Amino acid sequence: MDMMELLRFLWLKNRSLVTDDMDASLLHLKQIFPDMKVHAYPTGLEAWTWIVPPKWVVRDAFIETLDGRRILSFSEHPLSLVSYSEPFDGEVSKEELLRHLHSSETRPAAFPYVFKYYERDWGLCMPHERVLSLDQARYRVKIDTAFEPGMLKVGELVIPGETEESIVIVTDICHPGQVNDSITGVVVAAAIGEKLLRQSNNYTFRILFLPETIGSICYLSQNEDFIPHIKCALFFEMLGTTGEHVLGHSYPGTSKLDRVAYRVLQWRTDKFHEARFREVAPSDEKVFNGPGVGIPTINITRAPYPYPEYHTSDDSPDIIHPEKLEESRDLIFEILRVMDTDFVPIRQFRGPAFLSRYGLWVDWQKNWALNMAVDLIMLFMDGQHSVFEITDKINREFDIKIQYEEVRDYVNRMIEKGLVARSTLSQKI
Ligand SMILES: [Zn+2]
Repeated sequence: MDMMELLRFLWLKNRSLVTDDMDASLLHLKQIFPDMKVHAYPTGLEAWTWIVPPKWVVRDAFIETLDGRRILSFSEHPLSLVSYSEPFDGEVSKEELLRHLHSSETRPAAFPYVFKYYERDWGLCMPHERVLSLDQARYRVKIDTAFEPGMLKVGELVIPGETEESIVIVTDICHPGQVNDSITGVVVAAAIGEKLLRQSNNYTFRILFLPETIGSICYLSQNEDFIPHIKCALFFEMLGTTGEHVLGHSYPGTSKLDRVAYRVLQWRTDKFHEARFREVAPSDEKVFNGPGVGIPTINITRAPYPYPEYHTSDDSPDIIHPEKLEESRDLIFEILRVMDTDFVPIRQFRGPAFLSRYGLWVDWQKNWALNMAVDLIMLFMDGQHSVFEITDKINREFDIKIQYEEVRDYVNRMIEKGLVARSTLSQKI
């Protein structure tokens, strides 16, 4: 899968909450993943305290001078129209127009992203430098939009594992005409989905492509019985720029996923930041961690937030670094792999094992860290700790820098020698 190609395909679609372009975007993902389910929630549906909005239809929108010179057109950019703008057709004074015209002084050549999902008004957006050049007293405005009953759609790619217990990946497919926020999350999730489909997994993975907040509310509220089967969830977006990764912890911040993500970031990156729940770019993890839901959900992004092009048309493929998307993809995949392959080992011996007898002695000159860790690994294989927890404890409490994979490989060698058994409770960790 070419992440940049998918990004470019989705980029200029009018991906607001319920629109034809949103459907077209999900249809495109369904071509990549034919088994992907598309859930549809009708306009007016009460989802917990929320109500599914109507479909927003855009036929055309423009501003013209009275002599017919077009100075703004929806065909230029989807952000030229306020998302969910009401229709309007008439002649207005410049003052009246300015009350409905939005621009960004800090990004004067860009269209700002303005949305009025839950209030009704008409509005347009224009690069600020163009606003400054408006020199007529009156203008003609036409916004040919309509609100109709429709279906809010959520794409769900289910990758079945050994157990029904699920790890959910949540990504936002909304934000018309923008890329880093938030469809970098969509393309990274799609690339991870392809990799997960090629291997066998312990957990069932569910990858969600949905409009921010309301999509998560619909999915969870209509699947309440399933919530206890979701072990944890990851949300990610804003992964295409050069800043370091930011790990936004779940609420309460101490779940296994929090600890695995922290360690993988520490092992795989030179520098990263940690943030508490809601400290950075809050999004769908608010719903998953939220009141009465309680699924530990982390949020992975890149610094800074907000970045200079945030919520403007300058957030385009031009600011995306493909190698950064690949780096984030590999990192998140590694987090999932640790979560998925972890198990609880139980030692079948007493006293420190006679390692040389089994060919398990580690030469400190060849691998100092593992040599130091072996006594601790043997000690902690008491049936109470998973391989990851043993690794984490050794790093944290004994300041030995050793990675999960190395500990797991060593434990597997002990299993081969009959010294250690795998607990059948592994799925519950
Ligand atoms: Zn946003």
